Amino acid sequence: MLTYYNHLHSQHQGKLEMFRGQLVPCFEVPARVDHVLAELKARKLGTILPPEPFDDSALKGVHSQRYLDFLASAWDEWVALDPANAQRDALPSVWPVRSLRSDVLPANFAARMGLFSMDAGTPLTEGTWDAARAGADCALSAALAVAGGERAAFALTRPPGHHAGADFFGGYCFLNNAALAAQALRDQGIERVAILDIDYHHGNGTQAIFYERSDVYFTSIHGDPHTEYPFYLGYADELGAGAGLGFNRNWPLPRGTGFEVWRATLQQALACIAEFGAQALVVSLGMDTFVGDPISGFSLQSADYLQVGEDLAKAGLPTVFVFEGGYAVAEVGTNAVNVLQGFD
Ligand SMILES: [Zn+2]
Repeated sequence: MLTYYNHLHSQHQGKLEMFRGQLVPCFEVPARVDHVLAELKARKLGTILPPEPFDDSALKGVHSQRYLDFLASAWDEWVALDPANAQRDALPSVWPVRSLRSDVLPANFAARMGLFSMDAGTPLTEGTWDAARAGADCALSAALAVAGGERAAFALTRPPGHHAGADFFGGYCFLNNAALAAQALRDQGIERVAILDIDYHHGNGTQAIFYERSDVYFTSIHGDPHTEYPFYLGYADELGAGAGLGFNRNWPLPRGTGFEVWRATLQQALACIAEFGAQALVVSLGMDTFVGDPISGFSLQSADYLQVGEDLAKAGLPTVFVFEGGYAVAEVGTNAVNVLQGFD
């Protein structure tokens, strides 16, 4: 197992997020990746490499140009509004819902923050762009390694990516690393790529990016969006559209779901991936299905993740793992590396 480690991940360190009506310390912290890295080293699980640098053009297969331009300049604009802003993160507070326009690019910074975001839980910080950009390089490096013949590669990075859409951030995500990896596999000539999202939360960004395409199959097992973030996508009746009809499959499960039911669902999702005829697999590896996760509701145990890894390996596909959520910080290293060790 090759691991591409985002050495710039700690540049993104949000201070506060809006949660249940108040600003609270961010759940998505640098220690998450530090614990996974330490556990990988402790178990001597494969080689750990820095990512290859990719040109910004590698992002355009997934994200819109106006969104990338905004992310690259957002912090400087924020501080230019008021030098005191350098001491606090930028959070959106207004959004262009439904009858409001999203085609216009307002000059006002707060308006653009809302245009390019979906929640107030995702602070944009001084180092967000550098961290997210290097994370994208990790995902692209992992995809190229797998396209080049590696059995598997792991993009160990944060901020996570699967909630980020073509032109918006949210859910702690800015650049959609899993989507970038899948697109890179396609660009390397692999005709049918599957994305399996096993984070507790539905990968709304990834689904939306590929929703009208038949070359990338998206399937996700997650907390029922009737009660769980991201609420507005991830239902079982979302099957794709246009050329993509039949190439999207969601498996929403109720809060409290344990490993037996979760694993049976995983087998169904893997059967769909086999039926699709996938030639490569991208796994959005979120660890917030763990029983001890502070913002999630499934009850998987640490030992279960070894079995998850074994089940994923049985799919027999070249596989890119991309690190997503998982907020039980002390256990996230053990749990993530259990999946990788089980896979190995
Ligand atoms: Zn999550």
